[in-house]
Amino acid sequence: MMDIMQLSKGTYRVEDDRVRYFILEGTEKALMIDSSMNNTNAIDAAKKVTDKPIEIINTHADRDHIAGNGAFDKIYMSPAEEENYRNNGGKGTIIPVKEGDIIDLGNRPLEVIDIPGHTPGSIALLDINNRILYSGDTVQSGIIFMFGQYRNMDSFIESLKKLDSIKDRFDIIYPCHDKCPVYPDLIPKLIEGSQQVRDGKAEGKEMDLFGNKVMMYRFDYAGFFCAP
Ligand SMILES: [Zn+2]
Repeated sequence: MMDIMQLSKGTYRVEDDRVRYFILEGTEKALMIDSSMNNTNAIDAAKKVTDKPIEIINTHADRDHIAGNGAFDKIYMSPAEEENYRNNGGKGTIIPVKEGDIIDLGNRPLEVIDIPGHTPGSIALLDINNRILYSGDTVQSGIIFMFGQYRNMDSFIESLKKLDSIKDRFDIIYPCHDKCPVYPDLIPKLIEGSQQVRDGKAEGKEMDLFGNKVMMYRFDYAGFFCAP
């Protein structure tokens, strides 16, 4: 079952298990930000709330964000994410987007911000007029996956610092996991926590996650799964 919630005029979140995706509508077209973990018909939620043409962008290409991509021939994505996308079975033509690009839905410009680290081609989108940041998995209050192929803690920290430096441009953050919304004051906390983890100053707990041995670092505002 699709659980569609309206956040504001022309902005919707759709919950799919522990992941969410977003539907944004402008005067000309609509855009899905990601396409769910399980639902190959994720586009149906968008069709329920808009009659505009629907396009898609991926914040990144981990499996839990691309299940419904098959409904689209063309997908906006960072080209740095293509390898991860194809490895996860992703199909279609990638329309590359990069830092500073604007996707305008019609009176609703969205700015692309490169935030590598969680994956090489992770991006955030800034809904400029509405002062909303869509942060993918990078800014969130859940446990952020930072173990395995493609993760890079140094880049992740640099990307958080970049978002922190532009936080006068947004008031609210819509992430793909855990609490929604979160707020810009979470960003410096994540910088602090991820630096502690990287520098070996945080206390972790070894645990098994889907057959992988990982270290879990839990803070009161979020956490990290890292390689042991
Ligand atoms: Zn995710």
